[in-house]
Parts: sequence; C-alpha cells; structure tokens
Amino acid sequence: MGDGGVLFVGKVVAGATGGGKGGKTTRGPPKGETLKPGAFAKESIPAQPGRPTAAQQREVNALMKRNGCHTCGTKNPGNTSGNAVADHQPPKALAEPTEFLPHCIDCARRQGGEVVQALRARRKADR
Ligand SMILES: [Zn+2]
Repeated sequence: MGDGGVLFVGKVVAGATGGGKGGKTTRGPPKGETLKPGAFAKESIPAQPGRPTAAQQREVNALMKRNGCHTCGTKNPGNTSGNAVADHQPPKALAEPTEFLPHCIDCARRQGGEVVQALRARRKADR
C-alpha cells in the first residue's frame, strides 16, 4: 500500500542575478559651471558689487527674454516675481564682479552651493 506521500517541493529561489556593472552617469552641466559665464551667455551688462538698479534689472530681464538663462538656456526665470535673477559674474563672493548675466532661479540656487564649494576649496589651497 502506498498512500502516496505528499511530496513537498521546496521552492528554490533563483539566485540573485549576478553583479551588474554600476554604470556611472553624470547628470546636468559640469560642476562649477555657474561660476563663469555659461554656454548661453551672449550678452551682459556692466555690473557693480551689490544689487542691480531698477534699470539694470530691466536690462537683465530683456537679456533673459532674448538669450535665456546664461547657464541652462531657459527663458523662464522660475520665480514668482517674473524677474530674471541678475547674476554677478564672476560671483561676488569669489572676485570683483564685472558684469550681470541673466540667471534662472534654479541656476542661481545652484550657484550658491558651488560658490560655497569653491570657497572651501580655495581655503584649503591657501594652507
Ligand atoms: Zn538656468
């Protein structure tokens, strides 16, 4: 007599798929790109350290409309005021600025981080 025993078949979990090669992807413009006039910089206006005057702001807005953000090329400033960000070049934290270029809010924020990094690197280099 054989009451057929129930064959318990264990589930074999297929081995984890073998090592994928970690593909390196670089995203966005190169590091430090906002610290100099960008790929879309066509025109600029003379700048002084400090805030742009109302007239300068109007000119920067016009440049933004015509040429786009000097780093990424968007023509949308991305902030609520609708004003382009008047970007000092070179950034005033790094050198005496000589010109204003139109920036969108994203690139302006990014520049803030890159300026901090550049200052840190510079401080290290000075030692
Ligand atoms: Zn931008």
